[in-house]
Amino acid sequence: MAEQDSELYEELHGRIPAWPAQRPRRLRRGETLRRLVAETRLSPQQFIYPLFIVPGRRVRDPIASLPGQFHLSADSAVEEAEQAWREGVRAVLLFGEPTEKDELGRTAADPMGSAQAAVRLLKQALPELIVITDVCLCGYTTHGHCGVVGEDGEILNDPTLELLAETALSHAEAGADIVAPSDMMDARVGAIRTMLDAAGFVNTGIMAYSAKYASAFYGPFREAANSAPQFGDRRSYQMAYANRREALREARLDAEEGADVIMVKPALSYLDVIADVRAALDRPVAAYNVSGEYAMVKAAVERGWVEERAVTLEILTSIARAGADLIITYHAREAARWLSE
Ligand SMILES: [Zn+2]
Repeated sequence: MAEQDSELYEELHGRIPAWPAQRPRRLRRGETLRRLVAETRLSPQQFIYPLFIVPGRRVRDPIASLPGQFHLSADSAVEEAEQAWREGVRAVLLFGEPTEKDELGRTAADPMGSAQAAVRLLKQALPELIVITDVCLCGYTTHGHCGVVGEDGEILNDPTLELLAETALSHAEAGADIVAPSDMMDARVGAIRTMLDAAGFVNTGIMAYSAKYASAFYGPFREAANSAPQFGDRRSYQMAYANRREALREARLDAEEGADVIMVKPALSYLDVIADVRAALDRPVAAYNVSGEYAMVKAAVERGWVEERAVTLEILTSIARAGADLIITYHAREAARWLSE
């Protein structure tokens, strides 16, 4: 053996029992062994599948910016969720779209809104499915911002809180298991918790978009949710992507206000933030593998540059490895199928 003839071997021989003494490759011999010692395990049970709900019936329109995703009416959402359920996906996150928008986004709290209707139908058809609803105003306001706009164009924090809490309450009344405020207004988790408790919905959970960054990776989503801001941007309320410590501050505040699950969004460029939040807090951590991350994979796959199954499972595993317990992903159904093979 050439290696053992080396000078180093001669020098070490007799002083240590084998050379090299440490052989990490031992545990990489064969797929079964590798799986046995895997530090991170991905399961469809940790996936949350986002669904875009629109008014109407029998609607299933492909979303151009998100290949494989659809605008679904409430009845079509049930079919989609039933298929996902059969594939092992146990949770959905609903984004509603209204028939009408106004300055204050009042239709967000409409008990007959598309999201609320979908919650009712989904819980009827699949009582065990965990139905989570996005709570925000941007899909319901004419200006596309997540809060009330003041005279000078400022997004007003405190006047927004009641509108958000009313929206969350309407989702809870429809039967949502968990509401997920995504607006990034200060103190909204506390406002929502207070209103839910006062109305008797003590068991409705809150998954807070705690560290939601102002990100260019949301592009395809805005087309899907028809929620692009009509003026300015969201940097006065969403976090700056240069900041890491601030994410912990946001996460701790939300936890103190009563958030049951803490979310980091986006996921892939924020794995350090996911790891920090995981280490610092005792709540479950969710990460949102956002539309831009998904669309980049789909586009590269279309060109034959990467292999979809391999890169997607690597991406999702990296998000879990960073510390995410729950992963919100448009790849939920496909990944669930791949994992069961
Ligand atoms: Zn919003």
